[in-house]
Amino acid sequence: MSEALRLLRALGEVDEALQKLSGRLADIAKEEEHLQGRIAQVDADFARRKEEHRKLRLAAQERTAEVDATDAKIREYQRKLEFDIIPYKEMEFLREQVQILRAKLDELSEQAIKLMEAVEEDAKKLSQDEESFRERRAQLEEEIKGLERKRGELRREQEALETKRAEILSQLPAQLRQHYDKLRARFPNPVVYVNGQTCGGCHLRLSEATLLRLREGREVVTCEHCSRFLVLRWA
Ligand SMILES: [Zn+2]
Repeated sequence: MSEALRLLRALGEVDEALQKLSGRLADIAKEEEHLQGRIAQVDADFARRKEEHRKLRLAAQERTAEVDATDAKIREYQRKLEFDIIPYKEMEFLREQVQILRAKLDELSEQAIKLMEAVEEDAKKLSQDEESFRERRAQLEEEIKGLERKRGELRREQEALETKRAEILSQLPAQLRQHYDKLRARFPNPVVYVNGQTCGGCHLRLSEATLLRLREGREVVTCEHCSRFLVLRWA
């Protein structure tokens, strides 16, 4: 095989490898985006969970405040009944109110206790949830770091191939280089094998003259149909 053809084949291989690499890099970018989305989801879920707990605690506090307010009201009425000089009718009213408020106080106290118990229970559950949230998040971040390492490796591979490509191009005659670039703009595979008597790129039958020139191996031969560079399998 001629030196020019050897360079063209090497160039074709480098470009194919570069294309695969950019495909893998694009996959990594997509995967990373997906993981970032998962992290955002995990964060949002846990924020919601904390908000749920905060609301429960607030409800318990409100109920406790109601208990205190009712208790204060009862004391106030009792003080009035005990120390103030008030008309009989008002006295009757206040006694009745005290009865009502006491019944309400019992009910409210019971509710407040239940809510406080629920808060304590939920606080325990929340700390478990927080632990698994942190674990899950760390795991996702670790996966992203793994992708970043992989990307670093692929980028180094890419740089090495770019260097190799530049070396090949510097050795390739300008005219072949131009033809290669033109083919590359149209096809992913500018350099192809001959299969039997057909071009490995466009699969059309090659003329006897082309096949003869190929077998002689003195020059770089292109397909008369698609212009791709041709290589014989045993070359
Ligand atoms: Zn062809």
